[in-house]
Amino acid sequence: MVFLSAIEGELLREQLELLLKLQEIDSALTDLEVETQGLPGRIADLRQRMELTDTAVKEQETALDAAKKDRAKLENDLEDAGVRLNGLKSKQLVIKTNEEYAALQTEIQYTTDAVSKIEDSILVLLEQIEGAAADADAARQSAADSRGVIEREIAELDREMVRLTEALTIKRDERVRVAMHVDERMLERYERIIESRGEEALVPLVDGFCTGCYKKLPSQKAIEIRRGEKFFECGGCGRILYWGGEGQDGEE
Ligand SMILES: [Zn+2]
Repeated sequence: MVFLSAIEGELLREQLELLLKLQEIDSALTDLEVETQGLPGRIADLRQRMELTDTAVKEQETALDAAKKDRAKLENDLEDAGVRLNGLKSKQLVIKTNEEYAALQTEIQYTTDAVSKIEDSILVLLEQIEGAAADADAARQSAADSRGVIEREIAELDREMVRLTEALTIKRDERVRVAMHVDERMLERYERIIESRGEEALVPLVDGFCTGCYKKLPSQKAIEIRRGEKFFECGGCGRILYWGGEGQDGEE
């Protein structure tokens, strides 16, 4: 970059150091932001789990109520049938003909059968009610248990959110403090690369290769980068190159 060629030598090394620091902060910021963004979804999932256990309790309670209502209705039917049977039996005393007697006997038998059917149904229902009551109790207990666990998890995530928010504030302040010392043109360049390439705007040159795109650099440029005297952007990916460290040879 022609317009950045004025930055060289000691100034360049200082600027690269600041940019590397900035890059480190930005990477930490990205991690913190990703973590923060995931939290509301995790909390919503937990709340949904809590609602599901509440729904399970309501379903069990509804089943129990329905069985109790059925029982009340059958008790009513039983009472009605009993009254009817007593009425029929009292008619036996005032009957006049054999035909009437036979017809009455049939009706009494029919009503007696009906009473015993209702009694059987009530017994079945009593067992159902007992079972449904036990199920409802179990569902309530399990809901109370998991509610406790979920509430603790949500509280933990709430604390996590506070911690992350504080960490973000601290990192953002740190970024401002570092960025104010970076040359305006270099900062602009850095941000443009981040925008187009993602996380890394500065990459080390290793064995003469850009580690961002693995393009090989002309050896003369590699030497200059090693000396840290000239500003270089990779011709392949546009990232800012710095010397990758000891033991690597930029020469071909
Ligand atoms: Zn490159």
